[in-house]
Amino acid sequence: MEAEQPGAEIQRLQLCINDLVGILALPATWVRGEPPAIVESLLDSLMRMVHLDLVYLRLRDPVGDAPRELVRFDRWRQDAPRPQEVGQLLSPWLDADPQAWPARLAIGGTVGGADLAILPQRLGLHGEIGLLVAGAARAGFPRETERLLISVMANQATVGLQGARHLSEQKRVAEELDRRVARRTAELAAANAELRRQMAERRQAEEALAANERNLDQIINSIPGLVWSTRTDGTAEFFNQRYLDYVGRLSGAMQGWGWAAAVHPNDLPGLIDAWRSIRAQGRSGEAEARLRRFDGAYRRFLLRVNPLHDEEGAVVRWFGINTDIEDWKEAQDELRDTQAELARVTRVMTMGQLTASIAHEINQPLSGIMTNASTCLRMLGADPPNVAGALETARRTIRDGKRASDVIARLRDLFGKRGTAAEAVDLNRATEEVIALTSTELQRCGVSLRMELADDLPPVTGDRVQLQQVILNLVLNAAEAMRDVDERQRELRIATGRLEAGGVCLAVTDSGVGFDPAAVETLFNPFYTTKSDGMGIGLSVSRSIVQNHQGRLWAEPNEGAGATFRLSLPCRDGSPGGMAAAAGQAGHP
Ligand code: ADP
Repeated sequence: MEAEQPGAEIQRLQLCINDLVGILALPATWVRGEPPAIVESLLDSLMRMVHLDLVYLRLRDPVGDAPRELVRFDRWRQDAPRPQEVGQLLSPWLDADPQAWPARLAIGGTVGGADLAILPQRLGLHGEIGLLVAGAARAGFPRETERLLISVMANQATVGLQGARHLSEQKRVAEELDRRVARRTAELAAANAELRRQMAERRQAEEALAANERNLDQIINSIPGLVWSTRTDGTAEFFNQRYLDYVGRLSGAMQGWGWAAAVHPNDLPGLIDAWRSIRAQGRSGEAEARLRRFDGAYRRFLLRVNPLHDEEGAVVRWFGINTDIEDWKEAQDELRDTQAELARVTRVMTMGQLTASIAHEINQPLSGIMTNASTCLRMLGADPPNVAGALETARRTIRDGKRASDVIARLRDLFGKRGTAAEAVDLNRATEEVIALTSTELQRCGVSLRMELADDLPPVTGDRVQLQQVILNLVLNAAEAMRDVDERQRELRIATGRLEAGGVCLAVTDSGVGFDPAAVETLFNPFYTTKSDGMGIGLSVSRSIVQNHQGRLWAEPNEGAGATFRLSLPCRDGSPGGMAAAAGQAGHP
């Protein structure tokens, strides 16, 4: 250290103290803690106070947005090396202990380079903030006061930068917090919006559901029928408005078995039985019953019920609909009446064909009466009168008179106007009566008749006159089919029998012209006729009569010439005469 004058020494120390005060005041200018401002002012103050040729600052980690490397030069303002070049030059010692640094370094290289005495100073106890390097070309650098100033400056810088780092960290944390809060707020807002949307959607779904229900309600109430549902035990739980309006009762009164009060008392036991058996079978079913209207009138209904199953197939509920069939039933009745009237008219029409037979039928007992009456007179006029013989002939007269009135009664039956009956009919007797009416006609036509009526034929239920009309039609048609047949015998065979499957049947076989097998069904069409004077309604009327008796009427061409018309009817004991019976060929007469 060079010897100094005490006056100069004192002045230098005073300057140093001024600088120190200036340095200590520096942090006051850093209150805003902007790292670039801190490092800039630090370097500028150092250059100014210590008269350095070089100050180099290097930060270990970024502090805010301050540059990592910063350099100030005094001597080479024109051609100063860039901070990175200085950094590169110093790099071998950057991490080393300041003690290990060389005392001097040539900085600036070829371009106006200088040989500088350097003083490295750690920022932070272990250099964790960075490094400050001061350099000066002059001899004696650094003096003690300069060392002091630089190290105090380094301390101040450390404290300032640490503060700035904390501040910037705080700022970063605050910003991060802000960012997170903003993100969370946005998420919450989105979640809220989503929730609101879902509640919209939910309200829409609820509205749609309500609309659906209203729609379903409207449909159920506008179905032209009485709709209901029951639990599995058969007790009712729902009735549509139309049902309640029809019976004129409130739903509460109809619940459980309350509905039964609206069923006609005569129909109720049968209906309850049917309902029980439908439930026992677990399958759809139907029944008929009369239901009382609110005004007390009864109307006939067809009750149809369907089971509703769960996924396992178990019945969980029953749905039913009652359809008003009163008008339809009335129409059916009217149709039956019309058919009966048509049948009667066609019977009357056949009367013309039968005049000879009818006259014969009546003439026979009448001539008997005439003969017996004159015999009786003769016996009484004899001397002595033959009273015993007269009595006998008078009795015969009465018998013949009765026979004549029977014939007339039968004719009135057959051709008069009467209602439809459902009585036990012996098909054999009915056939014989028809033949009695037609025998003369058959003889006239040269037809030979063969009757093969089965013994112990069970009775059928029905209208004797209508069934006789059918037989009469078949017999007259057979006779007509044989009218022009000359080359073979005109043979008519009438047979009755039992069917194996139950029921009875009757067959009328002729040896006539027959029919085209392809047209077998057209024969039964109304107004189909091949005759010049035919009406073509005989067979269609006959078929509807047989069908009304739950029977069947059909035609078959014979193996040889002619045709056979067969009818089957159920027996009075209930054995079938319809399809099942007709299918069974065995037992055919
Ligand atoms: P119609 O006797 O007035 O013609 P039907 O309905 O009784 O009316 O008969 C319709 C048609 O069926 C007859 O015209 C005839 O062609 C045919 N038909 C009926 N019975 C016989 C039969 N026994 N043999 C052949 N054809 C028949």
